[in-house]
Amino acid sequence: MDQLHLPEILTPRSRLDEATGGLGCWVQVDLDALAHNARAIRKTLGHELIIYGVVKANAYGCGAVESARCLMENGVDRLAVTHVSEGIQLRQNGIKAPILVMGPAFPEEIAALIHHKLTPAVATVELAQRIADEAGRSGKSSYPIHVKIETGLGRTGVFAAAAPELAAAIASRPELQLEGAFTHLATAATGDRRFVHDQVARFQAAVAAMESGIGSPIPIKHAANSAAALAFPQYRFDAVRLGTVLYGQPPLSAGERLDLREVWGLKARIAHVSLLPADHGVGYGRAFITRRPTKVAVLPVGYVDGFQLEPASVPTGLWDLTKVLIKTAAAYFGVGPSSRFIRIGKAKAPVLGKVAMQFTMVDVTAIPDVQPGHIAEVPARRTVVALNVPRVYISADEQERLNQEVSLAN
Ligand SMILES: *Cc1c(COP(=O)(O)O)cnc(C)c1O
Repeated sequence: MDQLHLPEILTPRSRLDEATGGLGCWVQVDLDALAHNARAIRKTLGHELIIYGVVKANAYGCGAVESARCLMENGVDRLAVTHVSEGIQLRQNGIKAPILVMGPAFPEEIAALIHHKLTPAVATVELAQRIADEAGRSGKSSYPIHVKIETGLGRTGVFAAAAPELAAAIASRPELQLEGAFTHLATAATGDRRFVHDQVARFQAAVAAMESGIGSPIPIKHAANSAAALAFPQYRFDAVRLGTVLYGQPPLSAGERLDLREVWGLKARIAHVSLLPADHGVGYGRAFITRRPTKVAVLPVGYVDGFQLEPASVPTGLWDLTKVLIKTAAAYFGVGPSSRFIRIGKAKAPVLGKVAMQFTMVDVTAIPDVQPGHIAEVPARRTVVALNVPRVYISADEQERLNQEVSLAN
């Protein structure tokens, strides 16, 4: 569990410098935005539905404990994670809400799972029996458990044909309570609506067979992630499991308009600025050569932190090769995906050459007055930013106020 301990810097209302002074790069998380998103989604979905706030993968990079607390205070009913270890981390930080562990537990984890009152998802009779045995050993009865049903994702879950047998095995054990049944959709966010309907039909048939077998309804049936909850209101059932939308990213297929705010941003403080003459290499392999005198800012962020630009790929065919050539030509002429740019204030600075392990160089020739200490916004995929990059909690309002203080001081 020690690897999961995050160097979180909790700074509810302090100055930006106090919060981030001495940090080269950090993830800035806006909990006001997270709270806003949770409330906006609750309003859209209504008050009957159970909302599971998915806080797996360190709450999509936002910090699991802080995010979980914030979500629970803003209309989310329960939490969900993938691994037992993630649930334990929340419990050890005082989170009392029901926590569903959506992935399968290893046998060695069952005692800890029960000790920490985490709700398991099972797909086999064997795992259900082991959980019942362990619940019995620790004097528990009616321990809540969910059945995960395989309907098309090809990941974990019991096939529909075997689901009634699993339900019967659970119902026969007084140590357990079959609290829920769920499945996970493969194409809710990719627009294949037909496959969503097919998966849900298989899910409903399996649930009906389970319920008639055990002779009682399963209280919490759930299938929808963010994309499905918004695009398929008819498939919200008793509960939805939301990640993406809470953290401020509307799924492409969202059927309803939501006013969401960005929660997460990777920041880096300029460590060094230098003026390089024309014809000077920048970075490993001299992948970039200056064509004119160039003002270069060095950012202390690199691929070890999770900042990576287009991983080098070998073209797999003639069309692929053509695409690579077009992209390379576009990059040469300075057009291309915006991820090749870093924001400094309102300006955009192109990344020069290769991103190194802990440094990135950017062209700031066109940005006047750039100095070491200035803060840049780095585009990165939130879930791949390393866990040991500190998370700093500052709201957008506070950021705005601090920006004004800074400009007044200048
Ligand atoms: C990650 C996950 C979710 C949440 O998905 P989003 O698209 O981020 O809303 C829901 N259910 C399961 C099983 C997941 O693994």
